[in-house]
Amino acid sequence: MSAVVTRFAPSPTGLLHAGNYRTAVFAYLFAKHYDGSFILRIEDTDRERSKPEYEANILEALAWLTLAADKQYRQSEHRARHRALLEKLIADGAAYVSKEIPKNPGDKEEVIRFKNPKGAVTFADVIRGEITMGVSDLGDFIIARSLDEPIFHFAVVVDDADEHVTHVIRGEDHISNTPRQILIQRALGFVEPIYGHLPLILCNDRTKLSKRKGAKALTEYRDLGILPEAMLNYLAFLGWNPGDEREYLSQDELVKDFDLLRVHKGSAIFDETKLFSVNQHWMRTLSDAEFIMRGQLVAQDEEALRKAIPLLKERAHTFGEAREMLSGELGCLFMEPTITRSKLVEKEPAAAQQAGMTKSALEGLLEPIKALSEGVTAKAVKEVVMPLADAEETKGKGGRGGVLWPLRYALSGQERSPDPFTLIAILGPKESISRIQKAIAILE
Ligand code: GLU
Repeated sequence: MSAVVTRFAPSPTGLLHAGNYRTAVFAYLFAKHYDGSFILRIEDTDRERSKPEYEANILEALAWLTLAADKQYRQSEHRARHRALLEKLIADGAAYVSKEIPKNPGDKEEVIRFKNPKGAVTFADVIRGEITMGVSDLGDFIIARSLDEPIFHFAVVVDDADEHVTHVIRGEDHISNTPRQILIQRALGFVEPIYGHLPLILCNDRTKLSKRKGAKALTEYRDLGILPEAMLNYLAFLGWNPGDEREYLSQDELVKDFDLLRVHKGSAIFDETKLFSVNQHWMRTLSDAEFIMRGQLVAQDEEALRKAIPLLKERAHTFGEAREMLSGELGCLFMEPTITRSKLVEKEPAAAQQAGMTKSALEGLLEPIKALSEGVTAKAVKEVVMPLADAEETKGKGGRGGVLWPLRYALSGQERSPDPFTLIAILGPKESISRIQKAIAILE
């Protein structure tokens, strides 16, 4: 096989959603698997709808996904070549300038149409096998609005041939375009590339994934704190798998194992929950220092932040979530909480609604907690505190909750927070005692 060349050919007419980049991932992995090249072609033939900011977003997204292109260009840079080949087709009699009756304002009075040889076109598709489609119904289709305005079908064919693209890997929605493009290829005497039309990506409700249906732009996931290695891993598994149990593959492993023949014919579902869980896996593979750096996590107390990383690794699915936790339910690790008397006694049973009980329960914890060493583990704290909570229960006071709730609230000032043992382990016995004493003072 000659050197493999694939391309990703996005149109910069809007923000591409995450699913759109699956095509780039497959084209990249396939090329790199065979040590070939991956080309990025910005298809800006639609001059009105193509915008520099969308192009910039595509470049940013690909750089973030670490899909480096061996060559990158804009289709409009090849206008002279497109014009020359349009002229050639017309000179050869394979295309002609057609006078049109404009139907809508702005319609052209003249376009360039391709002389359809009719019949059927058969092509090989790596994923779907041989495909035959009739072309007679297409009539003499338009290939350019003028010599300087080729339409998509024409420009794609010329550019793919000029770049020696060996494999056209793109979405299944382009299958219906392929016969037209093959007719143009034949008329120009080009070698036909091998096609690989990827299955559609659907939403959870099995309708087509689209921006209208709320599919996020890829870069929004970056901003939510998804790791690029997680996104790459997730996108690679949309319609493909390595054929064994492995679910988490690095870029190098994906390149090594990727195989177009293993791409499924059936559609794939873009499931955000699954993406988040893949991301959590990749977040957990980071060392604590990497976790802080890549998650851009900041907190006033670096020591406490380091101690909170295991909690974040356990709970957060994205770095955005981790950052929210640091300022929300984990904020108490860095700042003394504000607590109220009414919340402290909230979980008291109706029969014993006295602040006195809560106060004595908290007082009973002071000495045992004071005796803990700094650096104590949550497990060791639990071994000390739990028997005390259980003892309160046997005394028929507030039950375990009559101890654990005020303790947790005194430490965190939050309805939702990590358990009190974890809080004590992270805050340290000294800070914990100081917070418990403040709670006791409120109950005086
Ligand atoms: N520009 C086309 C699109 O964005 C892709 C064309 C192709 O891959 O052949 O859908």
